[in-house]
Amino acid sequence: MARLVESTITFPYRRSLGPVVGAFMTALTEMRILGTRSGDAVLVPPMEWDPRTGAELGNDLVEVGPSGTVESWTWVPNPSAQHPLAQPFAFAFIRLDGATTPLLHAVDAGSPNAMSVGARVAPRWRGERVGAITDIVCFVLGESAEIEGTDAGPASEPVTRMDYEASITYRNPVPVSADRVIEASQEHRLLGQKCPVCERVYAGGRGYCPIDAVELGEGHEVDLSDVGTITNFSIVTPVQYPGQTETEPFVRAFVLLDGSDVILSYQPVIELPATDVRVGQRVVAVWASPAEDSDEGGAMGGTYGRLIGWMPNGEPDIDDPDLVNRIF
Ligand SMILES: [Zn+2]
Repeated sequence: MARLVESTITFPYRRSLGPVVGAFMTALTEMRILGTRSGDAVLVPPMEWDPRTGAELGNDLVEVGPSGTVESWTWVPNPSAQHPLAQPFAFAFIRLDGATTPLLHAVDAGSPNAMSVGARVAPRWRGERVGAITDIVCFVLGESAEIEGTDAGPASEPVTRMDYEASITYRNPVPVSADRVIEASQEHRLLGQKCPVCERVYAGGRGYCPIDAVELGEGHEVDLSDVGTITNFSIVTPVQYPGQTETEPFVRAFVLLDGSDVILSYQPVIELPATDVRVGQRVVAVWASPAEDSDEGGAMGGTYGRLIGWMPNGEPDIDDPDLVNRIF
């Protein structure tokens, strides 16, 4: 079975909440739950517009709960990392006292046998509340609200913004040919594969020719030069988003390998200041020593194992105006 590599992509968002949701979030830090009036109804969570008619609602907020009644529920026997509780729990529609609409939240009931339509529940508040729906850890059976941990009190200022990280994790099988590229990199060899039909050469253990739909394997392997020429580059000024480890401007360069049409894209440069990088510059591969860590995960888009970047090899630049057209 192919080895799997796990990649997580996270997008951080910061959004403004507006007068109604902002007031709802601020109230959560005070361990109060707000709804909004819409005619005779009380909507929870509160909204700026009526979801049935689209009509703008007055900012007529009213406190509800904090206890409520389970209207329907489903049991989650095997919670994932993204669920609100680590142990098995129920997702339930809970109609808080005084509300017309139910709120979806988790109930820590211990067992599905303890859950029923009509069951009374109360919130378990988080001790440290930030103004998010997760300030309610979950609901518990009974009429008594609880606090998890030490109560740190309400927010010192009204909550107007919300930080949110949308995150998705992929698990991709690593082709055998990509593992062979990593193995060859231990010997400081750059392994390519040559299509027997079109004779194009691919790096990174792609495992097939996308032009001819031909599978490429061990029999198609060729050794690539570890000397090349920079054809394009970008200087990246790092923005300090979550997960960014770079703090200074850095370069990603495209390197055309000698003796082939192979371009390695987005390559780090080493011992070469960002301001000195040029199109036409001659470079040589730099390999991690056995003691050094290197990313051998086989990320999406190809991998070269222990290849960590490229440095100038001292040869004169190549003066060819066509070089900048080479990005593939
Ligand atoms: Zn081909």
